[in-house]
Amino acid sequence: MTTSEDVLIITGAGRGIGAATALLAARRGHRVCVNYRSDDASAAAVVDAVRAEGGTALAVRADVTRGAEVERLFATVDAELGPLTGLVNNAGTLEKQSRLEEIDEDRLTRIWASNITSAFLCSAQAVRRMSTRYGGSGGAIVNVSSAASRIGSPNEYVDYAAAKGAVDSMTRGLALEVAAEGVRVNAVRPGLIHTDIHALGGEPGRVDRIAPDLPMRRGGRPEEVAETILFLLSPAASYTTGAILDVAGGR
Ligand code: NAP
Repeated sequence: MTTSEDVLIITGAGRGIGAATALLAARRGHRVCVNYRSDDASAAAVVDAVRAEGGTALAVRADVTRGAEVERLFATVDAELGPLTGLVNNAGTLEKQSRLEEIDEDRLTRIWASNITSAFLCSAQAVRRMSTRYGGSGGAIVNVSSAASRIGSPNEYVDYAAAKGAVDSMTRGLALEVAAEGVRVNAVRPGLIHTDIHALGGEPGRVDRIAPDLPMRRGGRPEEVAETILFLLSPAASYTTGAILDVAGGR
């Protein structure tokens, strides 16, 4: 069981998988920080939805690719919600569908930052609060990777797939670093999920195009990913760390 003392930061929670995770987490008793980068209205709508159900939520605008903004995000949560017990590294982006030789240096810098640097910076702040090494009471981190890390995303975004591969490696490495310090670290690897992210690749209808070829003949819903994230955060997963769980409908 979670309690009203559980305090969870979800990065990129204004829309998509992060928003669904925030709503479910609040229903399960977490006090939730809804982090986002720029879309104030979407984040406010998530907070309103949580509060309408009697939950506690706080929207914090911060670009989690930037260390100073990450520090401000975590300090705000310390002050407003209380001691941190969980982190979901969900923020991530992809860019226009391309072959590898068309990807330039600036794009690589952005993709590494949004998918990798963000997870490292936020995890560092979380470990400093939750690990018994620093006097914390323990906690859990869930990284949102992607099935792309094992598929490779040819002709679409090999850069994004490789960044998620780094997230998988970080999940294993960090899990082992903090396993004896009360902190569990796991990842989910969603498959094709109905969210806005596909529009960034230039194909908003990508899920519907590929759905007939998927094992379950459909894309996933953000709420289905959220359920797995909440399981990994919960005491039901108390002996699970360093695990990478596919939520990809068999893909
Ligand atoms: P989405 O609908 O595009 O939403 C992305 C969210 O992340 C938005 O709230 C956005 O903020 C926020 N964000 C992006 N960059 C940020 C930054 N630097 N700092 C803070 N917030 C940031 O994305 P999604 O599809 O839900 O994806 C969520 C995660 O799941 C990503 O890591 C993605 O790689 C992964 N994933 C998605 C799929 C899929 O099919 N959808 C599959 C596998 C993995 P604003 O609203 O302010 O822009």
